[in-house]
Order: sequence, then C-alpha cells, then structure tokens
Amino acid sequence: MVDYENLLDRVYSSLPEKKSSSERFEIPQADIFVEGNKTMIKNFDEICSRLRREPREVAKYLFKELATPGQVQGGRLVLQRKLYYKSVNEKIVSYIESCVLCKECKKPDTHTEAYDRNVKLLVCEACGARSPIRI
Ligand SMILES: [Zn+2]
Repeated sequence: MVDYENLLDRVYSSLPEKKSSSERFEIPQADIFVEGNKTMIKNFDEICSRLRREPREVAKYLFKELATPGQVQGGRLVLQRKLYYKSVNEKIVSYIESCVLCKECKKPDTHTEAYDRNVKLLVCEACGARSPIRI
C-alpha cells in the first residue's frame, strides 16, 4: 500500500513557490527573425501570456501601428514586411503603456472589457480603475 497522504505532502513541498504578483513587471522582449520580406516574432505567444492578452488583440494593434498585415501562426506572429528589432519592440512597449498598464496606479494587473466597437475598458485588478482605451 502506498501512503497517499505522505506522497501528496512530498509532491506539494517540492513544488516551486508561487511567484508574488508584486514582483517587478518586466517588459517582454520580442524575439525577432527576419526571413526574406517577412518578420517573425518567435515568442509571440509567450509575450501575450505575460501580458495576459489575447494574441489576436495584440496582433491587431501591431498590424495597425506597424502598418503591416500579417497573421498569427502556431504561436508566432508573421508580419509581411522586413522590420527592425527596435521598431517592433518599441510598438510592444507602446502597447504595454497604452493597453496594459493601469492609467492610475501603473500596475500591469489589468484585463480589458468590451465597451464599444472601437473602445475597450482597461480594468485594473489592483486599484479598480476603469479607463477607456482604443484598440
Ligand atoms: Zn490600478
């Protein structure tokens, strides 16, 4: 017979400690790969999950801001133009500033809610502020 309680104890005690949400927010860097006339963001899925945003929402912003069409393909974002590392990362930073960080307390613990056709509400889970944003 296996002692399940002891087994569970061992499993739980070996799990890494949960990261605190007060940990400093690090801006994720896009891992860019240029192939011919296309630019790929290889870690697009990872960036979106760090920002807690739907990939299509982040993609829509980048297509508009970079004036480049593209598509999400297997966790990567493919942009139909040759782009520089710097210009892509600048747009990711501006996305974070305008659509992720709370306008009041500047914390990244936010989510968006549909409001109007071109407007969403940025809802802060830390301070409760609700700010309209254009996406
Ligand atoms: Zn806030």
